[in-house]
Amino acid sequence: MNWEAVIGVEIHVRLKTQHKLFCGNRVVFGGEPNAHVCSVCMGLPGALPVLNPEAVELALRTALALECTVHLESVWARKTYFYPDLPKGYQITQFEQPLATEGKIDFSGSEGDAFVCIRRVHMEEDAGKLLHDKVPGATAIDLNRAGTALVEIVTEPDFRTPGDVRSFLGELKRTLEYVGASDCNMEQGGLRVDANVSVRKTGSSGLGNKTEIKNVNSFSGVERALSLEIARQISTVEAGNVVRQQTLLWDDHRAELREMRSKEESHDYRYFPEPDLPPLRISQEQVTVVLNSLPELPRDRRCRFEEVYKLTEYDAEVLTQSAATADYFEEVVGIVIDPKVAAKWVTGPLQALMNQLGEDAQTVPVRPEKMAALIGLVETGAVSESAAKSVLVILAEEDGSPSDIIEARGLFQERDVHRISTWVGEVLATHSEEVDRYRAGESKILGYLVGRVMHSSGGAADPRIVRKLLIERLKN
Ligand code: ADP
Ligand code: MG
Repeated sequence: MNWEAVIGVEIHVRLKTQHKLFCGNRVVFGGEPNAHVCSVCMGLPGALPVLNPEAVELALRTALALECTVHLESVWARKTYFYPDLPKGYQITQFEQPLATEGKIDFSGSEGDAFVCIRRVHMEEDAGKLLHDKVPGATAIDLNRAGTALVEIVTEPDFRTPGDVRSFLGELKRTLEYVGASDCNMEQGGLRVDANVSVRKTGSSGLGNKTEIKNVNSFSGVERALSLEIARQISTVEAGNVVRQQTLLWDDHRAELREMRSKEESHDYRYFPEPDLPPLRISQEQVTVVLNSLPELPRDRRCRFEEVYKLTEYDAEVLTQSAATADYFEEVVGIVIDPKVAAKWVTGPLQALMNQLGEDAQTVPVRPEKMAALIGLVETGAVSESAAKSVLVILAEEDGSPSDIIEARGLFQERDVHRISTWVGEVLATHSEEVDRYRAGESKILGYLVGRVMHSSGGAADPRIVRKLLIERLKN
């Protein structure tokens, strides 16, 4: 019997706001516990929430980037549950009337272009954090994170493979970074994934009982957890048993799933409209303004790079991983003529430099104009490629133009034909045996002779000129 998996995911993303969703505390990661709290986010009785418009703008950017329909009126709700990191005893979220519904995102699936439908995007506040290792014998609570602004993005159960979920998550992350809605910093819990999965006979249309996998904080973890769970469900149904609806916890270290609780239903949360906040109203003009301010999305940019600059799929993909790198590349291309050459330098030596310095394309000290100038010098043969790579590293530390640095360090290539001819002549005179072999048809000996001339020149000669002169002289 053939079984197929059905997967839908819910993603919580921290919005890149300066302040929390309903109070004026700054959003700070790390830092002294409970240094960024007030009566609102500590849930003191009588404290009233005030909506932060910055969060609304970023949630709108998210919804519109995902091609959702934005509802001009949405309603805040209280989701009631008890947990010590939730001081109010409820979370302010949106339930029956969310900010946006019915979106879609394209991604590269295992079988080519694919898309997934977005069921809804809503805003909500985050909870605090329990600290199990700060106070011996006790659990402490840090409320710095409490009340920070999140969006929850819920997909339809459109995925069939864990690999597709993973590549969708990559596309989603890039998209949210491009539009400036979130840093999607997974190490800091800025993007968290819950994956829902069921299995059914291939080709059937109903939905089987699902389980929900929580606590996954890496894309590879999502893929591994889903693969394990799908295998478990298939063996369960093949043994004639029924999959129990439940919530599972992913343990990344041990690479295993643990039962967390039997599945709760939404009525368990006693959702009801939040009495302290009016409905969220957005004007059509605001939607239009935000829509018009969205940048080109990563997928579109990748396709344009392939078409306009004739880059390989791989180069286009690497260059559009971040908007900053793509911008950098396009600035270099504006100065250097050949996009393929620019791509080679940006994805190769520049990327290596950024990794080494821990910088990104926005902060790396060698700016596009200098990168372009350096590439230009390599292209004209003024400096060798390997010398240029060391110049790039120097440019990150020293002021000055690429040609200043090349000059100061004597790295310009010798391109004077007369001088190179002299070295060529010397080598030919002292290597008569090799010359005879070359003339007898052993053409690969040329490389050796080029090497000898380069050696005579102390590495300074332009190898292209050396090669050309040797071929000419060896003809007669
Ligand atoms: P719940 O009420 O249990 O939270 P929802 O209907 O709200 O379930 O869906 C939550 C997520 O689970 C969505 O991403 C949805 O696509 C996915 N989902 C729903 N039913 C199934 C199913 N039978 N198998 C796989 N995923 C599912
Ligand atoms: Mg749900």
